[in-house]
Amino acid sequence: MSKIKRSERSFTFVGTTENVMNPDPRSRAWVEVDPKAIENNARVLKNFIGENCLLMAVVKADGYGHGAETVAKAALIGGADSLGVATLEEGIQLRNSGLKCQILILGNLINAEELYSAFFWDLIPTISGIREAIICNNIAENKNKKYIIHLKVDTGMTRLGCNCNEVKELISRIDFLKNISLKGIYSHLAIADEDLENNAQLGFTQIQLTRFEKVLKDLGARNKLLCRHLANSAGTLSDSRLHFDMVRVGLSLYGYFPVNDFDSDLKFHPALKVKARVTLVREVAKGTGVGYGHFFKTQRKSKLAVVAIGYADGVSRNLSGKISASIDGVLVPQVGAIAMDQMVFDITDKPDIRTGQVLTLLGTDGEVCISPQNWCEFSGSIPWEVLCSFRNRLPRVVT
Ligand SMILES: *Cc1c(COP(=O)(O)O)cnc(C)c1O
Repeated sequence: MSKIKRSERSFTFVGTTENVMNPDPRSRAWVEVDPKAIENNARVLKNFIGENCLLMAVVKADGYGHGAETVAKAALIGGADSLGVATLEEGIQLRNSGLKCQILILGNLINAEELYSAFFWDLIPTISGIREAIICNNIAENKNKKYIIHLKVDTGMTRLGCNCNEVKELISRIDFLKNISLKGIYSHLAIADEDLENNAQLGFTQIQLTRFEKVLKDLGARNKLLCRHLANSAGTLSDSRLHFDMVRVGLSLYGYFPVNDFDSDLKFHPALKVKARVTLVREVAKGTGVGYGHFFKTQRKSKLAVVAIGYADGVSRNLSGKISASIDGVLVPQVGAIAMDQMVFDITDKPDIRTGQVLTLLGTDGEVCISPQNWCEFSGSIPWEVLCSFRNRLPRVVT
C-alpha cells in the first residue's frame, strides 16, 4: 500500500462555529423553492381569469410540499385573493405567520372544539350539513357575533357536500340560524383533468356544471349574494363557464398543467427542485451487481455515482432504474434499487462528475426540465402526490 501523500494529509478547517452547530441544509439532499415562480404563476392565473373572478391559492399539505407560508405569501403578492387549506392546523399555521386574508378550510371540521378554534382564528369552515351549522351558530351566539361559513354541494364528486336537491331546504334552515353568515357556496369537480386531456371537451364536468347551475338558479336572487366557486386547476384552464366568482387553484399555482403536454400559452414556472449530492464516485467492472437485489448489473466497465437521497426522502422506490437526474444540463440514468437513503447513478457517459457535486432529480437545470409528470409515467402516481411526498428529513431551502 502506498503512503498517504502530503497533499492528501493536509486538512484545513474552514467552518465557523455557526456552520458546525447548524450544518448547511444543502450538504446532503434538499428541496429548493422559488417564491418568484409562485408569484409569477399567481399573476398568470389572475390575468387569465380576468377581473370579475377571484383567485384562491390552495396551499394545503404544506403548500403541496413547497412550504405553506412561503407559497401563501408569494401567491398573495402575485395577486391571489384568498387561501385554501385542508385542515384547521394548516389554517392556524398561516394565521400564526401573520397572514390576515380570507382562509377557507376545505376539509370537514366536525366537533365543537375544532369549530370554536376555527372561529377564534377567523377561518372559514366548509359546511355540508345542518349538524355543523348548528354547532357554528351556538359558538357565535355565545360571543354575540356571526360565524362566516361556505356551504358545500355535492354535484358528483361523492365526497363532501350536501346532496344537490337538498340545498334549498338546507339553506332555508341555515337562514333560521341568526348567528350564521352564509357567504359562499361551492362544489368540487371529479374528473376535470381527464376532461382537460380530451381537449377541454367537458364530459362529466358538464354534468357537474349543469347541476351546480341548477342549484344556483333554484336559490333565485339569494345566490347572487354568495361567492360561488367550482373550479380547481383543471376546471380553471378548461372552460371559463366553470369560473363563477372564484377559482381554487393548487397544482397550476406551483407551475404545472394538470395534464401532460397541454397546449397553452400560459407561462407557468415550476417552483420546486429536488437536489442531492454525490457522496462517492467509483469504477466497477462489467457484470457488477448494484444495490439491493442486484436489480441492475453493469453491461460494461462503469463509473457510478452514489447519491444521498432515497425513498425515505420521498423518491418512490417504484422509480428504481427508471428516472434520470441532471447535472450541468446532462441527464444521467439512475440504476439499481432506490434504497431508503441512497441511490446510484451511472455516470459512465459523463465521467467528470466528482464527489460533492449536485444532481437535480426534479425541476429545471439549464435546458433540462424534469417534471413530476415524468416520474408519474413510471410510478403510476400523480403530480399532486409526487409534490407532497418530499417531507421527513428533506430540508427546504427558499431561493
Ligand atoms: C385540493 C383542492 C383544490 C385544488 O386542486 P388542484 O387540482 O390542485 O388545483 C381545489 N378545491 C378543493 C376542494 C380541493 O380540495
